[in-house]
Amino acid sequence: MIKVAVAGALGRMGSGIIRTINEQDDMKVVCAFEREGHEKRGEDVGELIGIGKIGVPLNTADEMEQVLKEKNPDVLVDFTMPKATLNNVKIASKLGIKLIIGTTGFSEEEREEMIKTIKENKVPAVISENFAIGVNIFFKTLEFLAKKLGDYDIEIVEMHHRFKKDAPSGTALRAAEIIKENRGGYFVFGRKGLVGERKKEEIGIHALRGGDVVGEHTVIFAGDGERLELTHKASSRQAFINGVILAIRFLKDKDEGIYNTFDVLGLNYCIGK
Ligand code: NAP
Repeated sequence: MIKVAVAGALGRMGSGIIRTINEQDDMKVVCAFEREGHEKRGEDVGELIGIGKIGVPLNTADEMEQVLKEKNPDVLVDFTMPKATLNNVKIASKLGIKLIIGTTGFSEEEREEMIKTIKENKVPAVISENFAIGVNIFFKTLEFLAKKLGDYDIEIVEMHHRFKKDAPSGTALRAAEIIKENRGGYFVFGRKGLVGERKKEEIGIHALRGGDVVGEHTVIFAGDGERLELTHKASSRQAFINGVILAIRFLKDKDEGIYNTFDVLGLNYCIGK
């Protein structure tokens, strides 16, 4: 039985991860954390997230070291915020606990510090900005298509709900980078006015916003007489959570090293070479 600690336990991702771990036969949540001073401290986490009692009280970040020593989890799953994650990584890695980091938005310095801490303490970790299985396959397929259809006109269209604050999405930008890495070119964000004929090297990126769309990304490869479109559609956070469950199992026989979701999904070979 894999023993799991979860930081950000009541968050959108953390609560979904706890709910899904609770449905697995080979893993269980042994401790769960929220920020210091949380008003629900001590209450059963299962009851707090609506799945009924699971016998795990909510602990707070300031209690982490003590609780981790007592409960001795194999892995800490962290979906919180950069500063909190940095602190959690320091505490857990010193105790030899494996790590799964899903938090996004680290500065360069924060990311470097986190990786240095993990390496110094020689614990294995999976770090990924996107745990969704389909998105990772989408990225890998894109590498192949960009290599094979590099001379087609390539445009990216993404759509998200009306509340999203940043544009284009991180996934669209990553897709654009993959295209650039594999066939060169430069980004053009939308078009307006007398922009002239399209240049071959352009990688067009277009952001649509509206309704409750969770996240859709299409990369269009337009050639003479044909067009190929690669689309990924997310409909719920469960896609990320399923990837986290795979990452927990992946770390079971790892003693050291920093991994990403390509490693977890066995995608680190290049299709079509
Ligand atoms: P969220 O709902 O705000 O959850 C984060 C939780 O962490 C909140 O409950 C927050 O509490 C708690 N927290 C803050 N400081 C803490 C600390 N020191 N110790 C323990 N818990 C603490 O956000 P979310 O949507 O779950 O996303 C969390 C992170 O994961 C974000 O960075 C997001 O971008 C990222 N994410 C990554 C993926 C991926 O595939 N890698 C997918 C989805 C989301 P308060 O609300 O009280 O501050």
